[in-house]
Amino acid sequence: MASPNPHTVLQRVFGYDSFRHNQQEIVEHVLAGNDAVVLMPTGGGKSLCYQVPALCLAGVTIVVSPLIALMKDQVDALIVNGIKAAFLNSTQSSAEQAFIFQQLKSNQLKLLYLAPERLMGNETQFINFLQQINVSLFAIDEAHCISQWGHDFRPEYLILGQLKQRFPDIPVIALTATADALTQKDIIDKLQFTDFRVFENSFNRPNIWYYVKPKKNYYESLLQYLKQHKKDSGIIYCLSRTSTEALAADLKADGFNAEAYHAGLDKSIRDERQEKFLKDDISIMVATIAFGMGINKSNVRFVVHVDLPKNIEGYYQETGRAGRDGLHSEALLFYGAGDVIKLKRFAEVEGNEAQTKIMLQKLDKMSKFCEIKTCRRKYLLNYFGDEAPDYCGSCDICLNKPVLKDTTIIAQKILSAVVRLKESFGMRYVVDILRGSNNEKIRQDHKALSVYGIGKDVSKEEWSHYTKELINYDYLKQSDGQFPVLQLTDKGRAVLFQKEKVYLSAPVNIEIAHEPEIYQEHSYEKELFENLKALRNKIAREENVPSYIIFSDSTLLDLATYLPITKTDLLKISGFGAFKAEKYGEPFLEMVQDYCIAYKLQTRINLKQPKRERKQTSIASERSSDTKRMTLQMFRDGRSIAEIAEERNLSVTTIETHLSFYIAKHELEITDLVESRKQKAIQKAVEIFGTGSLKVLKENLQAELNYGDIRMVIAAMAANEV
Ligand code: ADP
Ligand code: ZN
Repeated sequence: MASPNPHTVLQRVFGYDSFRHNQQEIVEHVLAGNDAVVLMPTGGGKSLCYQVPALCLAGVTIVVSPLIALMKDQVDALIVNGIKAAFLNSTQSSAEQAFIFQQLKSNQLKLLYLAPERLMGNETQFINFLQQINVSLFAIDEAHCISQWGHDFRPEYLILGQLKQRFPDIPVIALTATADALTQKDIIDKLQFTDFRVFENSFNRPNIWYYVKPKKNYYESLLQYLKQHKKDSGIIYCLSRTSTEALAADLKADGFNAEAYHAGLDKSIRDERQEKFLKDDISIMVATIAFGMGINKSNVRFVVHVDLPKNIEGYYQETGRAGRDGLHSEALLFYGAGDVIKLKRFAEVEGNEAQTKIMLQKLDKMSKFCEIKTCRRKYLLNYFGDEAPDYCGSCDICLNKPVLKDTTIIAQKILSAVVRLKESFGMRYVVDILRGSNNEKIRQDHKALSVYGIGKDVSKEEWSHYTKELINYDYLKQSDGQFPVLQLTDKGRAVLFQKEKVYLSAPVNIEIAHEPEIYQEHSYEKELFENLKALRNKIAREENVPSYIIFSDSTLLDLATYLPITKTDLLKISGFGAFKAEKYGEPFLEMVQDYCIAYKLQTRINLKQPKRERKQTSIASERSSDTKRMTLQMFRDGRSIAEIAEERNLSVTTIETHLSFYIAKHELEITDLVESRKQKAIQKAVEIFGTGSLKVLKENLQAELNYGDIRMVIAAMAANEV
């Protein structure tokens, strides 16, 4: 029998359109019998790198994994896709184990998960057994556990060093989410790889937004945050066991569905709470870092750190547990300098000066992350050796970066007030004049000035903000001395006398996004989405597995967006492989059908691209609103459309579409983009020919007017700007 092709396996078995990142390259490399080290962020899709080969190869793939919980979860997810998989561990009865051995002997399993000590431990018996059966591939998950330079060293992983000697002809794939250069080299050394390739991926997680807030009195701030995320599932990390319990108790008292989790709890309690969290019966897990290693839950919407993590690796891994389904998620860290002092003490590794030094350096990098004034995402990516632009648009620093607006009129008012007051008064007095204040300090003759009271409609705070902005941008200067007065600079004079335009930031008060917005290219049916979730959860409960194992939220979102009506339609939905479509398809289809009938809707499946290629993770590519923002920012920085297109490796049309979006939102002015002469011509054509066909408009306009101009003017007309 010919071995199945990886693409077919991906589509038929897993129900995905295309490989992500460099999955395909990795799969092909491994299938050719080679060793590989795979560095990919959490949620990047490491599992498929060995699961797809496992299904293409004739024998069994042995997966080494550090935690029992992780194994069970993975195996459950495979079984739900109709794949023959099992795990071996000490919790199983000897009868259960015997059954698995039986299956292995008759080559019925495609994947077997086990702990490292089980594979290579003292019982050479097991190795001997493996040498007799048909093993195709070894996959080592969480491979950084083999390195002492990593942040999660597990001595039991060291025995894997013997693997290459015992099975020289069987390929090994080592996977990890966090490996700095030192750890990476150590993995290769310890596993005794000689002929291998390292596959690195961008570490960027574009759907996770990063925020840092001051730790002082953080509880109030946390409460407010959680209130805005009432419906969401999240993890709050604390440093100590006692603080997890105290915080969980406080949150419960405040009406949240929260529980504590730490290694000091009875195993039965831990298992129960973890299970409940996975099944969304507990919304918030307040945990030490003991929680999470085995958590593949795909709809964790936020991860909060109320204490500083020890290093960036840990922070990135923990925050990486949010948003595995690719939907908008948040990472929020409360930072206080006191934590740094506390953690320094923990960083001591007794009797090992070299390692202590490394740990202290790592801590230092972590606290620096909280203190920087530049893009946090860039910092994280640079830490892992990835390049990144200065602006990501989705961290607190970038979001608080002022977006400049045309504030020429406001600036003119302030500047002329300064001139009328003969450049002899301070900021407060100028603002009082603009507001037409009746303050007794206002001189009578000043009340007769034309600028007196011209800004009544704008608050005092706003006038002060803009005046300070004029100072920041060098339109005004403040004299020295005890009573500084405002004076015009040459730049300020040019605004008044040569009608130069002024761009200043509006007063901002950026809060963390209230409703985490779900981005879809097309709008989706909210009510249906909720109903589909309920259906999925019901099935999950019946089968006693976490709900995301049945279908991820993003699969349901696709259903609620594209409204498939037939079974063939259903296979076009990401996440519906043949097996799942057969097993679970019907009730979901029915629900969509009923909904469409009730609301007189038609299927939108034809809107779905048959092959929705996930683009390589460049920072901008994943979320449309980020990518648009980035275009806007670059445009404001003075780059032309052609330059932006070139730099971002996008088409000119795409860039024009982005800018049209901001024209329609009144954030850009059409005059900044299209000369008024051209504008008028297009407007006229639109009045005659309508907006039904861009082609017709183009044909009826002079050749110099391109589609981009037309599109942007139409956007502006729609926004009533022209
Ligand atoms: P990791 O092990 O790297 O943390 P996973 O292997 O658990 O990540 O994958 C994260 C999620 O992404 C899973 O829900 C997985 O099914 C999904 N996924 C992985 N590869 C693809 C792909 N090519 N297309 C669509 N979804 C994918
Ligand atoms: Zn940023």
